[in-house]
Amino acid sequence: MSDQPVRVRFAPSPTGPLHIGGVRTALYNFLFAKKNNGSFIIRIEDTDQSRFVQGAEQYILEALQWCGIQHNEGPDIGGRYGPYRQSERKNIYLKYAEQLLNSGNAYYAFDTPEELEDMRQRLKTTGSQTIQYDSTTREAMKNSLTMSSEETKTRVESGDHYVIRIKIPPNEEVHFSDLIRSEVIVSTNQMDDKVLYKSDGMPTYHLANVVDDYLMKITHVIRGEEWLPSAPLHWLLYQFLGWKKEMPEFAHLPLLLRPDGNGKLSKRDGDRLGFPVFPLNWKDPQTGEESTGFRERGFFSDAFVNMIALLGWNPPSHKEVMTLEEMIGEFSIERVHKAGAKFDFEKAKYFNHEYMKKKDSKDLASAFEKILEEKHITATADYSEKVCGVLKNRCTFISEFWENGYFFFEAPESFDESVISKKWNNSSGIKFEILLDALSSHNDFSLAGTEKFLTALLEENDLKAGDILPLLRIMLIGIKNGPAVFELISLLGKEETIVRIQKAIEIFNKSIYRTEKG
Ligand code: GLU
Repeated sequence: MSDQPVRVRFAPSPTGPLHIGGVRTALYNFLFAKKNNGSFIIRIEDTDQSRFVQGAEQYILEALQWCGIQHNEGPDIGGRYGPYRQSERKNIYLKYAEQLLNSGNAYYAFDTPEELEDMRQRLKTTGSQTIQYDSTTREAMKNSLTMSSEETKTRVESGDHYVIRIKIPPNEEVHFSDLIRSEVIVSTNQMDDKVLYKSDGMPTYHLANVVDDYLMKITHVIRGEEWLPSAPLHWLLYQFLGWKKEMPEFAHLPLLLRPDGNGKLSKRDGDRLGFPVFPLNWKDPQTGEESTGFRERGFFSDAFVNMIALLGWNPPSHKEVMTLEEMIGEFSIERVHKAGAKFDFEKAKYFNHEYMKKKDSKDLASAFEKILEEKHITATADYSEKVCGVLKNRCTFISEFWENGYFFFEAPESFDESVISKKWNNSSGIKFEILLDALSSHNDFSLAGTEKFLTALLEENDLKAGDILPLLRIMLIGIKNGPAVFELISLLGKEETIVRIQKAIEIFNKSIYRTEKG
């Protein structure tokens, strides 16, 4: 299929929210399509109505949109090969099931659930290795291979429940090549006669998936490793349907593992370890259970996508922080790893911080605005922007801005006594009066101007940085840790700095803070 235009698809079943593993599958499909000037298609695989969950499809589309993973064809935007929801393609599939029946590669089966259970029990008691409906067991079951054609016809026409099963040939080997796992060889004796079609008029996943990939001219099937066991069956269907030449290439992506590498990452791990596994918030419509998404947890979509991209792939440049365009430029299936990728929440936070530092302070300020409003704080846009410019280097999430920078909006009410009792003595007052004096006649409060001013002041007055700066920080913000002192002064500005120092001197002079030393 190499000379065909590249067409890939992400084919989720709307059975719940999209897990980050699903986001990664969609992302790799998208990157691969873009890299190869191809099309990225979304197809909703909703043939199993019993697993349908209200709102899941909308969630999936919204999540991909948030991530900037834009599709070229899909249920919401249509396209040449639609419809893109399998439930709306219902009448397409019977024809192919019939083609398989006619060519002898499929057969009708009428077994009841009880009869199937009996078969399993029988196989268990005889110590059979494979407990499945296959070439060794089908002869003893109720199907069109063991019944006369008249009986089969009568049963089908009278509306009896039936299924159409694939007839897996025994003692053969299926060989196919996977772009990530190289050659895969499976004995057909390991495979069972999977159901392809049911008398309710619905195909199963396997038939619908293969038929749609064929009809939608899919060139590469890039999907999670959990689908690798289904690939030999799909390979056989392509042969049986006469579509050998149109068979897409397969690439099965590595599993996403728990942070400790022990097993597949699940929602329960997220709950237990306190991190999200879904891109957006999700409320289960059946149980009402709510799960937090990366978006609501405060992640930027570009940081999230960057983190996801590197779970199982690395670019030739070994760059870590990269734009979507850069990822497209460097993406190839050859560089997707075989081994499972450990999810690391700390790494996710690292990416968010890296992106935070690069964000425009103005944009951050408009997001921070909401928090300020809740606190009934009014500040000019210019001031908020400057504050955000400082905070973005110190925070991972915007939600941390307030606790790391409330003092830019409120004068301290209390002061860290450990510093004052250690540093404040009888001569401190005079030193800070000198500082106040100098401040009142200083006018350049730019970052550089403030730094220069402070350095010169200490030097000219023979003051030790260790005697002044820790106290000055406490006077301005009340606490030991925070941005650099000159940064604080530059932002607070002349007037506010002077007011805070004056108030603090008054309080520190009260005996409670005074040491006996000075
Ligand atoms: N509907 C399958 C899923 O839910 C798609 C598997 C595939 O991509 O073939 O993941």
